[in-house]
Amino acid sequence: METDARRVVYEALTLMEDTLADGYRSGLPVPEFAEQAPIETIGTAVTPPRAAAPLRAGSARSTSLPKDDSLAAIATEAARCMGCRLAAGRTRSVPGQGSGRPLVMVIGEGPGAEEDRTGLPFVGPAGQLLDKMLGSIGLSRQDNCFIGNIVKCRPPMNRDPAPDEQAACMGFLDRQIALLRPRAFLAVGRIPAQSLLGVKDGIGKLRGTVHEYQGVPLIATYHPAALLRDESLKRPAWEDLKLLKSVLDGQGHQQQ
Ligand code: SF4
Repeated sequence: METDARRVVYEALTLMEDTLADGYRSGLPVPEFAEQAPIETIGTAVTPPRAAAPLRAGSARSTSLPKDDSLAAIATEAARCMGCRLAAGRTRSVPGQGSGRPLVMVIGEGPGAEEDRTGLPFVGPAGQLLDKMLGSIGLSRQDNCFIGNIVKCRPPMNRDPAPDEQAACMGFLDRQIALLRPRAFLAVGRIPAQSLLGVKDGIGKLRGTVHEYQGVPLIATYHPAALLRDESLKRPAWEDLKLLKSVLDGQGHQQQ
């Protein structure tokens, strides 16, 4: 999509979102859609190069891992990926951020507005709460966690990513998992839990027990945004974090 068209679509979606969420907020800066150099971060966020050859649907779905794969290569591919309709509305793809040798891979649903603007996962109030939750059991994105999402591009108006969008993007996540080899997964929210476990149960049913994904323990819990809306969810979320810690402790890993 051309730069002007992307800007028009972005502005229309942002106006609709703001109107539905908080009432109209004027004066929000519109992102610069011109080509930009990759940004340096703790993680691997990259601004999509406008003129890069697009990757078509299916490119993200590798059945075998590329030779000499790397997080940087995955980030670069995600930045120019056209594998699903979410590419049309993104400002930046959000490949993930964190330690290159994580104990835990935290997997959310997909980028929100702030993440789309910054190229980083879980920023803003929900991200700050996630950092506090992880910190309560000695985990952090700086030291021993990698934080990613099921889809790397923002679904418009924060809708759930559609099943075909999740499937199109799963190859990137599987490549990240193969590189990072985490000791456990923490799925935050219904969508990542359902997507990774291949079930349709709600998060209330999926949380509180140890599942497995690719032979690695997986704990599901509430999304921090849900905790911000409903204080009563904080206690079961804390139980889930203690369960995660017990899994890690049982593997002989000392938490800080
Ligand atoms: S969400 Fe994933 S599959 Fe879809 S365009 Fe973005 S990187 Fe590609």
